[in-house]
Amino acid sequence: KQQDSLKMENSAVTVAVRVRPFNAREKTENRLQVIFMKDQETVVQHPVSKHSHSFVYDFSFCSVDVEDPSFASQQTVYQTLARPLLERAFEGFNTCLFAYGQTGSGKSYTMMGFGEEAGVIPRFCQELFSRLASVQKDKVSCHLEMSYFEVYNEKIHDLLVARDNQNHRLPLRVREHPVHGPYVVWLELGNKQRATAATGMNDKSSRSHSVFTLVMTQTKTEFVEEEEHDHRITSRINLVDLAGSERCNSAQTNGERLREGASINMSLLTLGKVISALADQVVNRKRVFIPYRESVLTWLLKESLGGNSKTAMIATVSPAGSNVDESLSTLRYAQQAR
Ligand code: ADP
Repeated sequence: KQQDSLKMENSAVTVAVRVRPFNAREKTENRLQVIFMKDQETVVQHPVSKHSHSFVYDFSFCSVDVEDPSFASQQTVYQTLARPLLERAFEGFNTCLFAYGQTGSGKSYTMMGFGEEAGVIPRFCQELFSRLASVQKDKVSCHLEMSYFEVYNEKIHDLLVARDNQNHRLPLRVREHPVHGPYVVWLELGNKQRATAATGMNDKSSRSHSVFTLVMTQTKTEFVEEEEHDHRITSRINLVDLAGSERCNSAQTNGERLREGASINMSLLTLGKVISALADQVVNRKRVFIPYRESVLTWLLKESLGGNSKTAMIATVSPAGSNVDESLSTLRYAQQAR
């Protein structure tokens, strides 16, 4: 326990776990709840082996039952996990937040959400824009760039490039959203493009990583002995919805799936190695080799991982006994990241 708390204080990586509610199918099948949370502890009761497995993370969010007083809402997850990253970004740190878990466990609900149940990305943008609107323009100026990529089969696709049926680039006309600012239009476009690609390709979105990036440059102008000095800080913020982790270990049959599975496998494993090497570096204060170049995803995020940066991961799991083995593998992955 002492070891644990020590590690947490020094940890470069904040790790959270979130368990979603039962879905309609699980309810009608009367699936057993096998994941339970109390404070920082998550306990899994295996329905077959009857073993109980215990894990400790920085935060655990239980969203199984809305009626439960400890129910973790979208707002709670945002405030606890993502808002601190926003604060760090304003201080000049680079930040990354990853959602890891099997398909259907709640990664995109957590990161994107919808409508009233908006997830981390829209909440993050909204708060960022409203803070930018309130900074004193004469003291600080802010420049913001936004990108939205998809990494599929070790290739990077820009989701903010619109294409016609012949796959030709279309000119983009982005109107500002009357209330929320321009980011809403960009998000909608990127999500639409992800979805369009998915229908043509048998739910590709579960087999690709999506990387939403904001690059914020704050310029402060100071006068020293009547001379003007610009002081610039740039922070990169990456909010990443990873490919379904089940691709890591499920049996792959034909060529295309095999290749896909292998590339997802490699990028998730490399990400795990990179994150734990970074954590190791901080905890043991030693320099270790960080294998950024072993996958496109970690290569893309190289500048934002390690060094002057803050990383967080949210592992999402299903509450049901039918998914227990995938959930255990997700929880082990998340534990290794700390
Ligand atoms: P993934 O992105 O991991 O494949 P989704 O985010 O699409 O999974 O979640 C699968 C389904 O479960 C969706 O219908 C989603 O709305 C729902 N869901 C996931 N997590 C939650 C949650 N915490 N609260 C309510 N519904 C959720």
